[in-house]
Amino acid sequence: MADRDGLIWFDGEMVPWRDARVHVLTHTLHYGMGVFEGVRAYQTKDQGTCIFRMQEHTDRLFRSAHIMRMDMNVTKEQVNEAQRAVVRENGLEEAYLRPMCFYGSEGMGLRADNLKMHTIVAAWDWPSYMSPEARDMGIKVRCSSYTRHHVNISMCKAKANGHYINSMLALREALDSGCEEALLLDNEGYVAEGSGENIFIVRNGKLFTPELTSCLDGITRNTIFEFANELGLEVEEKRITRDEVYVADEAFFTGTAAEVLPIRELDGRVIGSGSRGPVTNLLQNMYFDQVKGRREEFPEWLTAVR
Ligand code: PMP
Repeated sequence: MADRDGLIWFDGEMVPWRDARVHVLTHTLHYGMGVFEGVRAYQTKDQGTCIFRMQEHTDRLFRSAHIMRMDMNVTKEQVNEAQRAVVRENGLEEAYLRPMCFYGSEGMGLRADNLKMHTIVAAWDWPSYMSPEARDMGIKVRCSSYTRHHVNISMCKAKANGHYINSMLALREALDSGCEEALLLDNEGYVAEGSGENIFIVRNGKLFTPELTSCLDGITRNTIFEFANELGLEVEEKRITRDEVYVADEAFFTGTAAEVLPIRELDGRVIGSGSRGPVTNLLQNMYFDQVKGRREEFPEWLTAVR
């Protein structure tokens, strides 16, 4: 990743990609205290390249920093402008964007009272998190042996760097056992989320998704709520057990990277028809139409980079 042409926004300046470096004693590298976002930009029908729900991502970044008691060194306007600039100045038609805020190398130790905050925004071409086949047919998932963060261990409403060691352990385990993604349960054994996705199930035409207790307040999750509302589909946030997923008519993951991704199997149990179900299909199509500017609704969700 490090050796390529391009520009990364680093504390207010555009820096050549290869020169966007930090010291080995960077505090965040040692303890994982940092916050970040994953954002996508799509080529749209009428407005060129647009960033999807940029403001909501920026707002969540600042909420994450607030939870972690990290004092931001930049404003929301700067982060927004930086996101538009990195896509534009790297000449990207579609992109994955990574704003990230981290502590510098001014000191070590957990007190973290003498550290400078830094902010970067990078963008690169990352066409699809899963194969096109997975998008159509769904993926195989296993319940993880790793528990999702307990509400009082790490703060689930923050998208914090260190949280992702739990995700990586779970995903590695799932991949090792021939699955494509992990489903993490909370400390009481109820369904929480994927390694980087929220989950929905469909039963008798109604959508269910876990309460936000042990999962991230996903922006794609919220997008699905808006679509369901538009379609007159009911959505209920509730505790879900793993066997409710086994017997669901349909199940799917949502996330900026994964987009709307059908789940065809959990722990060896085929879900519904074993392929993308009709409700998932409808919502997935709406999602792609929305991000690519082919729908009239929610124009405020698209920010042109030019
Ligand atoms: N849960 C976790 C743990 C995630 O990392 C992500 C990706 N940011 C999500 C859910 C989905 O969130 P969003 O739809 O905002 O990308």
